[in-house]
Amino acid sequence: MKLPGRGEFQIIDYLRRCSSGSPELIEGIGDDCAVADLAPGQQLLTTTDLLTESVHFRLDWTDLFNLGRKAVSVNVSDLAAMGAQPRFLFLSLAIPDHLEVGSLEQFFRGFLEACTEYGAVLAGGDTCRSNTDLAMSVTAQGTAPATSWVSRRGAEVGDDIYLTGTIGDSGLALRQLRAGRDPDPFLLQRHCNPTARVATGLQLAGAGLAKAMIDISDGLLADLEHVLDRSGAGAVVELSALPLSQPFRTHMEKDPQLLDLALTGGEDYELLFAAAPDRAGEVAGISEQTGVPISRIGRITDRTSGLGVVRDGATVAMPRTRGYKHFPETA
Ligand code: ADP
Ligand code: MG
Repeated sequence: MKLPGRGEFQIIDYLRRCSSGSPELIEGIGDDCAVADLAPGQQLLTTTDLLTESVHFRLDWTDLFNLGRKAVSVNVSDLAAMGAQPRFLFLSLAIPDHLEVGSLEQFFRGFLEACTEYGAVLAGGDTCRSNTDLAMSVTAQGTAPATSWVSRRGAEVGDDIYLTGTIGDSGLALRQLRAGRDPDPFLLQRHCNPTARVATGLQLAGAGLAKAMIDISDGLLADLEHVLDRSGAGAVVELSALPLSQPFRTHMEKDPQLLDLALTGGEDYELLFAAAPDRAGEVAGISEQTGVPISRIGRITDRTSGLGVVRDGATVAMPRTRGYKHFPETA
Protein backbone atom coordinates (compact mmCIF):
# COMPACT_ATOMS: atom_id res chain seq x y z
CA MET A 1 0.00 0.00 0.00
CA LYS A 2 1.26 3.48 -0.88
CA LEU A 3 1.17 6.52 1.33
CA PRO A 4 -0.84 8.94 -0.86
CA GLY A 5 0.48 12.19 0.63
CA ARG A 6 1.90 14.01 3.63
CA GLY A 7 -1.38 15.35 5.01
CA GLU A 8 -2.17 14.49 8.63
CA PHE A 9 -5.30 12.57 7.74
CA GLN A 10 -3.64 10.79 4.83
CA ILE A 11 -0.96 9.63 7.25
CA ILE A 12 -3.40 8.53 9.95
CA ASP A 13 -5.58 6.72 7.42
CA TYR A 14 -2.54 4.99 5.93
CA LEU A 15 -1.29 3.87 9.33
CA ARG A 16 -4.74 2.66 10.33
CA ARG A 17 -4.96 0.52 7.19
CA CYS A 18 -1.43 -0.85 7.44
CA SER A 19 -1.43 -1.62 11.17
CA SER A 20 -2.36 -5.07 12.25
CA GLY A 21 -4.74 -5.38 15.15
CA SER A 22 -4.45 -7.63 18.13
CA PRO A 23 -7.11 -9.38 20.21
CA GLU A 24 -6.19 -7.27 23.26
CA LEU A 25 -6.55 -3.98 21.37
CA ILE A 26 -10.23 -3.08 21.45
CA GLU A 27 -9.75 0.38 19.91
CA GLY A 28 -6.57 1.33 18.10
CA ILE A 29 -5.86 4.14 15.63
CA GLY A 30 -8.97 6.18 14.86
CA ASP A 31 -10.60 7.07 18.15
CA ASP A 32 -9.70 9.58 20.84
CA CYS A 33 -7.97 6.94 22.94
CA ALA A 34 -6.65 3.44 22.42
CA VAL A 35 -8.48 0.87 24.53
CA ALA A 36 -6.77 -2.34 25.54
CA ASP A 37 -7.68 -5.35 27.57
CA LEU A 38 -5.18 -7.08 29.81
CA ALA A 39 -5.40 -10.75 30.71
CA PRO A 40 -5.96 -11.35 34.44
CA GLY A 41 -2.73 -11.24 36.44
CA GLN A 42 -0.87 -9.23 33.81
CA GLN A 43 0.68 -5.88 34.62
CA LEU A 44 1.27 -3.02 32.19
CA LEU A 45 4.83 -1.70 31.70
CA THR A 46 5.28 1.60 29.84
CA THR A 47 8.38 3.28 28.46
CA THR A 48 8.98 6.26 26.20
CA ASP A 49 11.84 7.68 24.16
CA LEU A 50 12.30 10.92 22.28
CA LEU A 51 14.38 10.81 19.09
CA THR A 52 15.43 14.02 17.40
CA GLU A 53 17.30 14.54 14.17
CA SER A 54 20.99 15.47 14.54
CA VAL A 55 20.96 14.57 18.27
CA HIS A 56 19.89 10.91 17.95
CA PHE A 57 20.15 10.23 14.24
CA ARG A 58 21.35 11.75 10.99
CA LEU A 59 19.47 11.14 7.80
CA ASP A 60 22.73 10.94 5.83
CA TRP A 61 23.86 8.05 8.05
CA THR A 62 20.69 5.99 8.15
CA ASP A 63 17.94 5.22 5.69
CA LEU A 64 14.38 5.91 6.76
CA PHE A 65 13.37 2.24 6.78
CA ASN A 66 16.02 1.39 9.36
CA LEU A 67 15.22 4.53 11.33
CA GLY A 68 11.64 3.29 11.60
CA ARG A 69 12.88 -0.08 12.81
CA LYS A 70 15.29 1.47 15.28
CA ALA A 71 12.59 3.76 16.73
CA VAL A 72 10.72 0.58 17.66
CA SER A 73 13.72 -1.46 18.79
CA VAL A 74 15.13 1.09 21.24
CA ASN A 75 11.79 1.29 23.02
CA VAL A 76 11.04 -2.40 22.92
CA SER A 77 14.51 -3.02 24.33
CA ASP A 78 13.44 -1.32 27.57
CA LEU A 79 10.50 -3.71 27.80
CA ALA A 80 12.81 -6.66 27.10
CA ALA A 81 15.06 -5.46 29.92
CA MET A 82 12.19 -5.87 32.36
CA GLY A 83 11.03 -9.17 30.94
CA ALA A 84 7.84 -7.82 29.37
CA GLN A 85 6.15 -8.84 26.13
CA PRO A 86 5.84 -5.75 23.86
CA ARG A 87 2.17 -5.07 22.98
CA PHE A 88 1.18 -1.51 22.10
CA LEU A 89 3.24 1.26 20.54
CA PHE A 90 2.38 4.94 20.16
CA LEU A 91 4.18 7.08 17.61
CA SER A 92 4.17 10.86 17.76
CA LEU A 93 5.81 12.58 14.84
CA ALA A 94 6.84 16.13 13.98
CA ILE A 95 7.45 16.02 10.22
CA PRO A 96 9.45 18.69 8.37
CA ASP A 97 8.31 19.80 4.90
CA HIS A 98 11.56 18.62 3.32
CA LEU A 99 10.88 14.97 4.15
CA GLU A 100 9.56 13.38 0.97
CA VAL A 101 6.46 11.24 1.01
CA GLY A 102 8.42 8.20 -0.20
CA SER A 103 10.88 8.56 2.69
CA LEU A 104 8.02 8.87 5.15
CA GLU A 105 6.47 5.72 3.75
CA GLN A 106 9.79 3.89 4.17
CA PHE A 107 9.91 5.03 7.78
CA PHE A 108 6.40 3.67 8.42
CA ARG A 109 7.23 0.40 6.67
CA GLY A 110 10.26 -0.11 8.88
CA PHE A 111 8.33 0.87 11.97
CA LEU A 112 5.41 -1.49 11.29
CA GLU A 113 7.68 -4.37 10.24
CA ALA A 114 9.61 -4.14 13.52
CA CYS A 115 6.35 -3.96 15.52
CA THR A 116 5.21 -7.20 13.91
CA GLU A 117 8.53 -8.93 14.55
CA TYR A 118 8.39 -8.09 18.24
CA GLY A 119 4.73 -9.11 18.54
CA ALA A 120 3.47 -5.56 19.10
CA VAL A 121 0.98 -3.32 17.28
CA LEU A 122 0.84 0.41 16.56
CA ALA A 123 -2.06 1.58 18.72
CA GLY A 124 -2.01 5.37 18.27
CA GLY A 125 0.04 8.51 18.17
CA ASP A 126 0.03 12.11 17.09
CA THR A 127 1.11 13.79 13.87
CA CYS A 128 2.14 17.38 13.37
CA ARG A 129 4.39 19.57 11.26
CA SER A 130 7.91 20.59 12.16
CA ASN A 131 9.44 23.85 10.98
CA THR A 132 12.91 22.45 11.52
CA ASP A 133 13.99 18.83 11.97
CA LEU A 134 12.32 15.46 12.13
CA ALA A 135 11.42 14.51 15.70
CA MET A 136 9.53 11.59 17.12
CA SER A 137 8.41 10.24 20.42
CA VAL A 138 7.65 6.56 20.77
CA THR A 139 5.85 5.08 23.73
CA ALA A 140 5.84 1.33 24.15
CA GLN A 141 3.66 -0.71 26.45
CA GLY A 142 4.24 -4.30 27.35
CA THR A 143 2.76 -6.82 29.69
CA ALA A 144 4.23 -9.26 32.16
CA PRO A 145 2.83 -11.49 34.87
CA ALA A 146 2.80 -9.57 38.17
CA THR A 147 5.27 -12.06 39.58
CA SER A 148 7.87 -12.14 36.83
CA TRP A 149 9.01 -8.71 35.63
CA VAL A 150 12.54 -7.77 36.55
CA SER A 151 13.81 -4.44 37.93
CA ARG A 152 17.36 -3.08 38.30
CA ARG A 153 17.20 -3.65 42.03
CA GLY A 154 17.75 -7.31 42.80
CA ALA A 155 21.49 -7.98 42.28
CA GLU A 156 23.22 -9.55 45.29
CA VAL A 157 26.82 -10.19 46.31
CA GLY A 158 28.14 -13.32 44.61
CA ASP A 159 25.77 -13.18 41.61
CA ASP A 160 27.22 -13.69 38.15
CA ILE A 161 26.91 -10.83 35.68
CA TYR A 162 25.94 -11.79 32.14
CA LEU A 163 25.67 -10.02 28.85
CA THR A 164 23.78 -11.07 25.70
CA GLY A 165 25.29 -10.72 22.21
CA THR A 166 28.35 -8.54 21.63
CA ILE A 167 29.15 -4.98 22.68
CA GLY A 168 30.96 -2.06 21.12
CA ASP A 169 29.80 -2.65 17.52
CA SER A 170 27.38 0.26 17.45
CA GLY A 171 29.81 2.64 19.13
CA LEU A 172 32.54 1.69 16.66
CA ALA A 173 30.21 2.25 13.68
CA LEU A 174 29.29 5.68 15.04
CA ARG A 175 32.94 6.58 15.55
CA GLN A 176 33.70 5.59 11.95
CA LEU A 177 30.73 7.56 10.61
CA ARG A 178 31.85 10.62 12.55
CA ALA A 179 35.32 10.26 11.06
CA GLY A 180 33.78 10.22 7.57
CA ARG A 181 34.55 6.55 6.98
CA ASP A 182 32.23 3.79 5.78
CA PRO A 183 31.78 1.23 8.58
CA ASP A 184 31.75 -2.50 7.77
CA PRO A 185 28.20 -3.58 6.90
CA PHE A 186 27.94 -5.64 10.11
CA LEU A 187 28.91 -2.73 12.37
CA LEU A 188 26.63 -0.34 10.49
CA GLN A 189 23.75 -2.76 10.83
CA ARG A 190 24.34 -2.99 14.57
CA HIS A 191 24.18 0.79 14.80
CA CYS A 192 21.31 1.56 12.42
CA ASN A 193 19.18 -1.51 12.98
CA PRO A 194 19.79 -2.95 16.45
CA THR A 195 17.86 -5.97 17.71
CA ALA A 196 15.99 -5.82 20.99
CA ARG A 197 16.49 -9.08 22.90
CA VAL A 198 12.82 -9.67 23.55
CA ALA A 199 12.68 -13.48 23.56
CA THR A 200 15.77 -13.77 25.76
CA GLY A 201 14.47 -11.16 28.22
CA LEU A 202 11.11 -12.91 28.44
CA GLN A 203 12.69 -16.29 29.09
CA LEU A 204 15.18 -15.00 31.67
CA ALA A 205 12.38 -13.26 33.53
CA GLY A 206 9.86 -16.06 33.13
CA ALA A 207 12.27 -18.63 34.56
CA GLY A 208 13.13 -16.32 37.46
CA LEU A 209 16.78 -16.35 36.41
CA ALA A 210 17.48 -12.64 36.04
CA LYS A 211 17.47 -11.04 39.51
CA ALA A 212 18.27 -7.59 38.11
CA MET A 213 18.35 -6.59 34.44
CA ILE A 214 18.99 -3.57 32.20
CA ASP A 215 19.52 -2.96 28.50
CA ILE A 216 22.78 -1.39 27.36
CA SER A 217 21.88 1.95 25.82
CA ASP A 218 24.35 4.35 27.50
CA GLY A 219 27.38 2.02 27.56
CA LEU A 220 28.24 -1.12 29.51
CA LEU A 221 29.87 0.56 32.54
CA ALA A 222 27.28 3.33 32.82
CA ASP A 223 24.37 0.90 32.63
CA LEU A 224 26.01 -1.54 35.01
CA GLU A 225 26.37 1.37 37.42
CA HIS A 226 22.62 1.93 37.23
CA VAL A 227 22.08 -1.65 38.36
CA LEU A 228 24.67 -1.28 41.12
CA ASP A 229 23.14 1.98 42.36
CA ARG A 230 19.65 0.52 42.46
CA SER A 231 20.79 -2.78 43.96
CA GLY A 232 23.20 -1.23 46.48
CA ALA A 233 26.09 -3.37 45.22
CA GLY A 234 29.50 -3.27 43.58
CA ALA A 235 30.91 -5.34 40.72
CA VAL A 236 34.01 -6.69 39.07
CA VAL A 237 34.08 -6.99 35.27
CA GLU A 238 36.67 -9.17 33.53
CA LEU A 239 37.87 -7.48 30.37
CA SER A 240 39.03 -10.77 28.88
CA ALA A 241 35.45 -12.07 29.11
CA LEU A 242 33.80 -9.23 27.17
CA PRO A 243 31.91 -10.59 24.17
CA LEU A 244 33.30 -8.84 21.07
CA SER A 245 32.28 -9.49 17.47
CA GLN A 246 34.84 -10.59 14.89
CA PRO A 247 34.65 -7.24 12.99
CA PHE A 248 35.22 -5.42 16.29
CA ARG A 249 38.20 -7.64 17.14
CA THR A 250 39.72 -7.07 13.71
CA HIS A 251 39.68 -3.32 14.31
CA MET A 252 40.98 -3.79 17.84
CA GLU A 253 44.07 -5.62 16.59
CA LYS A 254 45.11 -2.34 14.95
CA ASP A 255 43.90 -0.15 17.81
CA PRO A 256 43.88 -1.82 21.27
CA GLN A 257 42.35 1.37 22.74
CA LEU A 258 39.07 0.31 21.18
CA LEU A 259 38.44 -1.88 24.20
CA ASP A 260 37.45 1.31 25.96
CA LEU A 261 34.72 1.80 23.38
CA ALA A 262 33.30 -1.61 24.24
CA LEU A 263 32.98 -0.44 27.85
CA THR A 264 31.60 3.01 27.21
CA GLY A 265 30.12 3.18 23.69
CA GLY A 266 26.34 3.05 23.86
CA GLU A 267 23.42 1.81 21.78
CA ASP A 268 24.24 -1.87 21.98
CA TYR A 269 20.72 -2.79 23.15
CA GLU A 270 22.05 -5.99 24.66
CA LEU A 271 20.79 -7.21 28.03
CA LEU A 272 22.94 -7.19 31.14
CA PHE A 273 21.65 -9.20 34.07
CA ALA A 274 22.63 -10.72 37.39
CA ALA A 275 21.87 -14.36 38.20
CA ALA A 276 22.69 -16.68 41.08
CA PRO A 277 25.81 -18.79 40.32
CA ASP A 278 23.99 -22.08 40.85
CA ARG A 279 21.77 -21.28 37.88
CA ALA A 280 24.55 -20.99 35.28
CA GLY A 281 23.38 -24.16 33.53
CA GLU A 282 19.87 -22.75 33.05
CA VAL A 283 21.29 -19.49 31.65
CA ALA A 284 23.27 -21.52 29.11
CA GLY A 285 20.08 -23.42 28.25
CA ILE A 286 18.23 -20.19 27.45
CA SER A 287 21.13 -19.02 25.29
CA GLU A 288 20.91 -22.25 23.34
CA GLN A 289 17.15 -22.08 23.03
CA THR A 290 17.01 -18.47 21.85
CA GLY A 291 20.18 -18.67 19.72
CA VAL A 292 21.52 -15.55 21.44
CA PRO A 293 25.01 -15.90 22.95
CA ILE A 294 25.12 -15.12 26.67
CA SER A 295 28.52 -14.47 28.25
CA ARG A 296 29.48 -14.27 31.91
CA ILE A 297 31.47 -11.06 32.25
CA GLY A 298 31.94 -10.68 35.99
CA ARG A 299 30.35 -10.86 39.39
CA ILE A 300 28.50 -8.71 41.89
CA THR A 301 30.48 -7.60 44.93
CA ASP A 302 29.55 -5.53 47.97
CA ARG A 303 28.77 -1.85 47.59
CA THR A 304 31.95 -0.57 49.25
CA SER A 305 34.12 -2.25 46.60
CA GLY A 306 32.60 -0.03 43.90
CA LEU A 307 33.08 -0.96 40.26
CA GLY A 308 36.34 -2.64 39.25
CA VAL A 309 37.68 -3.95 35.98
CA VAL A 310 40.14 -6.85 35.77
CA ARG A 311 42.84 -6.14 33.20
CA ASP A 312 45.75 -8.60 32.87
CA GLY A 313 44.97 -10.11 36.26
CA ALA A 314 44.94 -6.77 38.14
CA THR A 315 41.74 -5.09 39.32
CA VAL A 316 41.48 -1.40 38.43
CA ALA A 317 38.83 0.79 40.08
CA MET A 318 36.71 2.59 37.48
CA PRO A 319 35.75 6.25 37.67
CA ARG A 320 31.99 6.72 37.72
CA THR A 321 29.49 7.48 34.95
CA ARG A 322 31.42 7.28 31.73
CA GLY A 323 28.30 6.86 29.59
CA TYR A 324 26.57 9.27 27.28
CA LYS A 325 24.98 12.33 28.89
CA HIS A 326 22.76 14.85 27.15
CA PHE A 327 23.43 17.63 29.62
CA PRO A 328 26.63 18.09 31.58
CA GLU A 329 26.03 18.16 35.32
CA THR A 330 26.02 21.69 36.72
CA ALA A 331 26.01 23.01 40.26
P1 ADP B 1 -7.11 13.85 18.53
O1 ADP B 1 -7.18 15.16 17.82
O2 ADP B 1 -8.37 13.40 19.16
O3 ADP B 1 -5.90 13.73 19.43
P2 ADP B 1 -5.84 12.84 16.19
O4 ADP B 1 -6.53 13.42 15.00
O5 ADP B 1 -4.56 13.43 16.63
O6 ADP B 1 -6.89 12.75 17.38
O7 ADP B 1 -5.59 11.29 15.94
C1 ADP B 1 -6.61 10.48 15.43
C2 ADP B 1 -6.24 9.04 15.63
O8 ADP B 1 -5.07 8.76 14.90
C3 ADP B 1 -5.92 8.68 17.07
O9 ADP B 1 -6.41 7.37 17.31
C4 ADP B 1 -4.44 8.73 17.13
O10 ADP B 1 -3.94 7.86 18.13
C5 ADP B 1 -4.06 8.26 15.73
N1 ADP B 1 -2.77 8.80 15.26
C6 ADP B 1 -2.46 10.07 14.97
N2 ADP B 1 -1.19 10.19 14.57
C7 ADP B 1 -0.66 8.94 14.61
C8 ADP B 1 0.61 8.39 14.34
N3 ADP B 1 1.64 9.14 13.95
N4 ADP B 1 0.78 7.07 14.54
C9 ADP B 1 -0.24 6.30 14.94
N5 ADP B 1 -1.46 6.74 15.20
C10 ADP B 1 -1.68 8.05 15.05
MG1 MG C 1 -4.07 14.51 18.50
